[in-house]
Amino acid sequence: SVIIKISNLSKLYNDRSILKNIDLTIETGEFLCIIGPSGGGKSTLLNLIGGFIKSDGGSVSFQGETVNKPNRECIMVFQEFDQLFPWKTVQENIEFPLKNDPHHYSKTEIAALTGTYIDMVKLHEFKDFYPHQLSGGMKQRTAIARALVTTPKVLLMDEPFGSLDILTKTELQDTMLEIWKKTQTTIVFVTHDVREALHLADQIIILGDGTVQQRIENKTKDSEE
Ligand code: ADP
Ligand code: ADP
Repeated sequence: SVIIKISNLSKLYNDRSILKNIDLTIETGEFLCIIGPSGGGKSTLLNLIGGFIKSDGGSVSFQGETVNKPNRECIMVFQEFDQLFPWKTVQENIEFPLKNDPHHYSKTEIAALTGTYIDMVKLHEFKDFYPHQLSGGMKQRTAIARALVTTPKVLLMDEPFGSLDILTKTELQDTMLEIWKKTQTTIVFVTHDVREALHLADQIIILGDGTVQQRIENKTKDSEE
């Protein structure tokens, strides 16, 4: 079923057209990669899907409802390593969204969910470390667990592995695929790395000149497994 529907979506910055009448549907459980040149509007599109910025026309709907503000079912992970609270440990960073969620999780639920996601990103041995004691890859693992711990339906990822060395990047990609298979979260993943998109995605969108230039079903992914 369709989880996100983008219709005729447009965005201007300083009278310059960044996105032009974008139409796109995203299916529940899909791993979608958006690729395209730098400055092509990928981050802008992700920010519109998340409800972080306003469009200049058209709409985004999430499970049939118009998106016009951030939604707890649709969480973003950024490229930067400084998105963690520096004064909190890995575990405290990951449990933070649960403690501040309108859903009011019990202490038992918080402990169980935090433990599950610390294990899923393979940080059990590092749960009492502070961000400055972690490598870039471990910081991104923490950010991913913190994004997923409230079990959102959609994970938006803006070049999350863009600053990592190639080996760390490959490890994180494999962890991401494992998590996606386990949780069946819908993932919208922005990258300018074509190889990364081919490794991860079911569907690849090429965004250029403010339009969806091509949508590709990625058959190479299945043949890898
Ligand atoms: P990409 O993610 O593909 O690199 P972006 O969506 O970040 O592209 O940016 C697309 C274009 O929009 C770029 O030219 C960028 O400079 C411009 N842009 C993005 N955000 C803003 C903003 N807040 N104000 C003005 N221009 C912006
Ligand atoms: P990316 O290349 O990962 O898309 P950018 O470096 O283009 O990221 O943008 C980083 C942030 O700066 C984004 O939040 C974007 O909205 C903002 N931004 C980008 N270009 C401009 C601009 N020309 N004016 C104001 N803000 C901008």
